[in-house]
Amino acid sequence: MYDINKAAVIGAGTMGLGIAGQLANAGVEVTLLDIPASGDNRNAIAERALERLLDENQPGLLHRDFVKRIRIGNIEDDMALLADVDWIAEAIVERLDLKKALYRQIDAVRKPGSIVSSNTSTIPISLLVEGMPESFQAEFAITHFFNPVRYMRLLELVRGTHTRQQVIAALEAFCDRRLGKGIVVCNDTPGFLGNRVGVFAIQTALHAALQMGLSPEEADSIFGRPMGIPKTGVFGLYDLIGIDLMSDVAKSLESILPPEDAFHAVAAELPVMQRMIAEGYIGNKGTRGGFYRAANVANGIGRKTLDFDTFSYRDHDATRPQAAVDAELAGDFTLLLQGDDRYAAYAWRVLSETLCYAAELVPDVNESLVAVDDAMKLGYNWIQGPHEMLDAIGVDNLIARLEQDGRPVPEFIRTAAGQSFYRVHAGRLQYLLADGSYEDLERAEGILRFSEQRRTLKAIEENEAASYFDIGNAVGLIEFHSKANALGPMSMQLIESAVAHASEHMQALLIHNDAQHFSCGADLTSILGFVASGDMQGLDAFLKHYQQTLMQMRYAPIPVVAAPSGLSMGGGFEVLLHTDKVIYHANSVTGLVESLVGVVPGGGGVKEMLYRWAEKEGDVAKGAWKAFMNIGYGKTARSPLEAEPLAMFRDGVDSYIMNRDRLLATATDAALAMAPDYTVSRHGTLRMPGRDTWAEMQDWLAEAHAKGLLTPHDVTTGTQIGMIVTGGDIDAGTELTENDLFDLERKAFLALGRTTETRQRIEFMLEHGTPLRN
Ligand code: NAD
Repeated sequence: MYDINKAAVIGAGTMGLGIAGQLANAGVEVTLLDIPASGDNRNAIAERALERLLDENQPGLLHRDFVKRIRIGNIEDDMALLADVDWIAEAIVERLDLKKALYRQIDAVRKPGSIVSSNTSTIPISLLVEGMPESFQAEFAITHFFNPVRYMRLLELVRGTHTRQQVIAALEAFCDRRLGKGIVVCNDTPGFLGNRVGVFAIQTALHAALQMGLSPEEADSIFGRPMGIPKTGVFGLYDLIGIDLMSDVAKSLESILPPEDAFHAVAAELPVMQRMIAEGYIGNKGTRGGFYRAANVANGIGRKTLDFDTFSYRDHDATRPQAAVDAELAGDFTLLLQGDDRYAAYAWRVLSETLCYAAELVPDVNESLVAVDDAMKLGYNWIQGPHEMLDAIGVDNLIARLEQDGRPVPEFIRTAAGQSFYRVHAGRLQYLLADGSYEDLERAEGILRFSEQRRTLKAIEENEAASYFDIGNAVGLIEFHSKANALGPMSMQLIESAVAHASEHMQALLIHNDAQHFSCGADLTSILGFVASGDMQGLDAFLKHYQQTLMQMRYAPIPVVAAPSGLSMGGGFEVLLHTDKVIYHANSVTGLVESLVGVVPGGGGVKEMLYRWAEKEGDVAKGAWKAFMNIGYGKTARSPLEAEPLAMFRDGVDSYIMNRDRLLATATDAALAMAPDYTVSRHGTLRMPGRDTWAEMQDWLAEAHAKGLLTPHDVTTGTQIGMIVTGGDIDAGTELTENDLFDLERKAFLALGRTTETRQRIEFMLEHGTPLRN
């Protein structure tokens, strides 16, 4: 009944533009209206917004051309455009009077059976629709997106008293499948779930840090990656959002939450923030900085920290408490709670208060703890939801500590005493209800999170870097789980034995994980170990194993399908290059970026790209140039659509989907469909362009260096890439096999590994996370 094919967005600010962009990404024609501008060009506001959508630094689009799907206008001249639209999403400023006036305008032109929704963060639906006709109320909902819309997975969907169930169902289906969002249906309560818990958590972390005398660096080193939350931490997050905006958000939440809510204890704007706002220290968007400020330090990058006493910037202190280092390395936040120093006290205070607050929301604010956990994972990028964290601490442990502190124990936590919030029972994952019973965790058809599924499975084989599972239907699955999913010898060992096992016992093999990033690449620390100690034999053996493992995977007698999301870089992308099919998440980032650390792709990356380019160009020499340029520059693609012209995405073979929660089911179906008629397709030999083309590439490098475009070590690295893609000092037309190309990759890698500059590049990358231009 409610079919969404055409959409309109009103308000071309941060959120409206993001929503319009994501609709365009989904292939939907969208109309974007804002208020008329005062000058000649009445559409100037929406027009400027579209320019922001094309900003290279904040890519809201999967492909630049999709901007053509957005038609702009203004709410005085172009309201008629709304007449044939199926969904009108309002994202104007957070003012009830303006929103209500707009709804009356919308209702006068919209067609019956169209849906209207608001992106409001704080206004209850009952107030938004007050006085509107019943027909409008029946087709109205809140669709609360998060910023940036393309990347944040959460969509909170709120139903009003009069909203038709079919409207909610239509929005749910459309926003899940087409826009790729993880839907959490919320009740109409202040801040819904994500901001309710998220803003409480960061206000608590901020207040506690200042009261306990922790510096921003100290607080962020704990309330960040070690806790399984984004590395911006708390002070970094304030800078990112804007100190002024955060202060407004806290104030507005304070004004709508009931007086007994625990939020009020941490809602107050602290004196230091008042002074920061008054003096213009509003965070990254301002010119003065915030708690941190980007600064030129030795080697060109870094930041300084605001000193609260002098209100000037001092050197950044990168020392991290040992517990934070250990917790991050082990992926176990509970290590932060051990010990009796002030860091442990800080971690306990922030965590216990936040987790208790979240647990108190069940059942009154939401009946399901899964909704609360999803909101934090999808809306705030926490690795675990609050109730998963409570389980990790241990409910009884937590109760004992709260009692020791003389603090009240929330009722829902009492209910969980002696058990846990989640459990696996009779092979199914279940969660606790407020009445003390358990219910199966069932997600919508086709939504499957491996982080959940794996809890009900026992690995066939596992080591510290990766695991191999039988996920049913004779489908095997390899999961990486090392830090940042960096791939080292252990990862290859696991792939090797999984491929051997799957070749015998499975119909198909998947490579997938539910981490933020599929894989950031080969483990640089291992590589640095070889390079720094000059162990070239060891390095050669490592690379050979990497290459041969991926080769075995490529030639396994069963289909191998990968389903990545987030980053698949360097050695991680080389894994994808050796699969039969890749089902990408739409926001996947791919690239062979080895040159940035002064090496070449040494796990078959150059080889595979050469084959692909040779085929795409219909000529090996032309293909060699393409591979040389793209690998040399370390080109990356920020979507499968950007990856296609770079030969990283195979048209007609690979595909992409919008919702990463659907990757696993989609990849499983694809692999099973391929299995019955699967035949291995082998690469033939390549007739290499040889020494003359290599010489031309070296001339090109010399010229680019002379123009100041390349550093000396870029030239050295580029020369080695050229050697591989041409075959090096050989006659044109010499035929090389895949294994010959593997040998050339290792030869180039070792030659570069012997240079001081490569060692310096790797060290710099490991220390700073950015490339050294030497
Ligand atoms: P914004 O200030 O960036 O943009 C608002 C836009 O609405 C402006 O372009 C303004 O010109 C336009 N506008 C104002 N009145 C209008 C009217 N009557 N008709 C048409 N356009 C009008 O605001 P934003 O951050 O995009 O927020 C929009 C909505 O989304 C608000 O309700 C806000 O609470 C909510 N929200 C914001 C965020 C966020 O992170 N910024 C997140 C979730 C929800």
